[in-house]
Amino acid sequence: MAHRKVGLECSRCGARNYTVNISAKQASERLELKKFCKHCQQVTLHRQTR
Ligand SMILES: [Zn+2]
Repeated sequence: MAHRKVGLECSRCGARNYTVNISAKQASERLELKKFCKHCQQVTLHRQTR
């Protein structure tokens, strides 16, 4: 299975805080995860950037 690396961007401040490896299947839909943003100092929704 092919995997690709994508960035996760804070939906609140726009900082790219994480990179994750996802499968090609997952890449077809936009990944959204709740993660801690050090800039916002709280857990925010992070979206896939590419
Ligand atoms: Zn943020």
